[in-house]
Amino acid sequence: MDREVRVRFAPSPTGPLHIGGVRTALYNYLFARQHGGKMILRIEDTDSQRFVPGAEAYINEALKWLGIEIDEGVSEGGPYGPYKQSERRDIYRQHVKMLLDAGKAYIAFDTPEELNAAREATANFQYDSHTRSAMRNSLTMPDEEVKALIDGGTPYVVRFKIDGGRAVEVNDLIRGKVVIKSDILDDKVLYKSADDLPTYHLANIVDDHLMKVSHVIRGEEWLPSAPLHVLLYEAFGWADTMPQFVHLPLLLKPDGKGKLSKRDGDRLGFPVFPLLWTDPETGNISRGYREDGYLPQAVVNFLALLGWNPGDDTEIMAMEELIKRFSLEHCSRSGAKFAYEKGTWFNHQYLQMLPDEELAELFKPVLRANGINPDDFSNEYICKAVGMVKGRINFVSDLWQHAAFFFVAPSEYEEKSVRKRWTPETPALLSELISWLKEYPTPSAADAEQPVLARIKERQWHMGNVMNALRLAVVGECKGPHMFDIMELLGMTEVEQRVNAAINRIKPVEQ
Ligand code: GLU
Repeated sequence: MDREVRVRFAPSPTGPLHIGGVRTALYNYLFARQHGGKMILRIEDTDSQRFVPGAEAYINEALKWLGIEIDEGVSEGGPYGPYKQSERRDIYRQHVKMLLDAGKAYIAFDTPEELNAAREATANFQYDSHTRSAMRNSLTMPDEEVKALIDGGTPYVVRFKIDGGRAVEVNDLIRGKVVIKSDILDDKVLYKSADDLPTYHLANIVDDHLMKVSHVIRGEEWLPSAPLHVLLYEAFGWADTMPQFVHLPLLLKPDGKGKLSKRDGDRLGFPVFPLLWTDPETGNISRGYREDGYLPQAVVNFLALLGWNPGDDTEIMAMEELIKRFSLEHCSRSGAKFAYEKGTWFNHQYLQMLPDEELAELFKPVLRANGINPDDFSNEYICKAVGMVKGRINFVSDLWQHAAFFFVAPSEYEEKSVRKRWTPETPALLSELISWLKEYPTPSAADAEQPVLARIKERQWHMGNVMNALRLAVVGECKGPHMFDIMELLGMTEVEQRVNAAINRIKPVEQ
C-alpha cells in the first residue's frame, strides 16, 4: 500500500454506541494496526437536535474497555484537530464558500411550507437539476435579492449542485465497483444557516480529506451516501486523494430477516450495547455486555467474526492474532447473523483461559454482593475454589451458583437427593466415615481417597449412597467437583462440622 493507512471511527453522539458501531470501530482498528497506520476517533456532533449528553463519554469508555486504542482524537489530540466537528465550524464555513465560489453549490431559501407544497404537487418530488429552476434559490433569484435576504437574516441552506446524466462510480474494497446514476441523487443540503453548521455529508468529506483518511471503513447503511461523497470529492478537486471505501455487511437479527435491533435483544435476552446505558431523559436502562459479565476479549473475538473470517475454521483469536490475520478480502458482502449464543460460548472459552488469580479477582465483587467478605478467605483459597468450578461457567456471576458452598455451609439440602440417599443408617455411616477421614493428613485425593473408598467397599456399604450423603451434607446438593478435592480445600474441621450439622438437621425418610 503506497499511502499511509489512516482510518477513522466517526460516531455521532446520539445515544449509546450500538454493537454494530463497535464492530465498525474494531475493524478500523484491526486494519490500522495491521498496516502500522493510525486510528482516528472523530466525534460527528453537527446534528445538534440529536445530541445526547453522556454519549461521547460512553463511546470513549466502551472503546477503552474493549482495548480499541485511539491514536488521534478528542482526548489524544493530533496534528489535524480539533477532532470534534462542533469545534470546526470555521473550517466548514470556508469549505462551503469554496463550493459556492466555484459554482458547485448554491443558496436556497425555500421554506418548509414551500418544500411541502412542492412535494404535494409532484409525486416523488426531488430537489435536483430538473426542479431547482422552479424553486427559490440563488440560481433563480437576482444576486441583490439573495444578498438582501441573507443580510436581513432570512434562514437559508446551501445545496450541492448535482448535474444529471452522470454515472457515478463508487469503488468499494468489499463490494467492488458500484455504479449509480446521478439523476437519482437530490441536491443535498450541505449547510444550514439557522444553526451555522454543516450537515453530515459536508463535514464528513471535508474532515476525511483534511485528516488525510486513506480508508473509509463503515457500516453498509452508509453505502447510499457514497456516490454523493464521490461527487463532493470531485467538486472540491480532491478526487486524486479520495479514500478507499469499505462498507461492512449489516448485522442481522439472530432469527429471521432484517437488521439487528435493540428490540431483538430485549426479546431474546441479550445486550446490543457494549456497556450499560441509562437514558438521560427517560431513565430507561439498557443492558450492556460489560455489566452482563462478558470479558472484553470475548466480545472482541465474537464481533470480529461477524462479517469476517480468517479463511480457515480458527475461532479463538485474541486481539494480536486478529490484527495479524484480518483482511478485507475475507470480509463478506452479505449480512452477518447476530448469533448471540456464540458470544456466550466465546465468553466461556475466554473464562477458561483466564488465570485463576484473575478469575478470583473478578469473583470478589460477586462474593461481596452475596454477603461474603472475600478478605475472610485467602487468595489461594478463592483461586482453588474458582479453579474447581470454572469449567461449568459462562459468566463470572455463574461462579456463585457453583462455588457458594466453599464460602457458606449449606443451610438447606436438596430434597430429592435426601429422599434418595439419606436413610436411617446414614448418620452412623457418616460418623464412621468422618473418623476414617481424620486418620489421614488431609481428606484429599492424594491422601485419603483410595484407602477410604477401599474401606467402604470392604464394609460393603452402598458406595453411591454413602458418598452422595456425604456430598449432600457438605455441599447441600448432589453435584459439584470431585468430593475429595472439595474436602481438601474445606479442611477436615469444616467437613466434620457440616456433617454433624446435617445429621442434626436432616430427618431420614423411612424407605
Ligand atoms: N457519523 C456517522 C455515524 O454516525 C459516520 C458515518 C461514516 O463513517 O461516514 O456513523
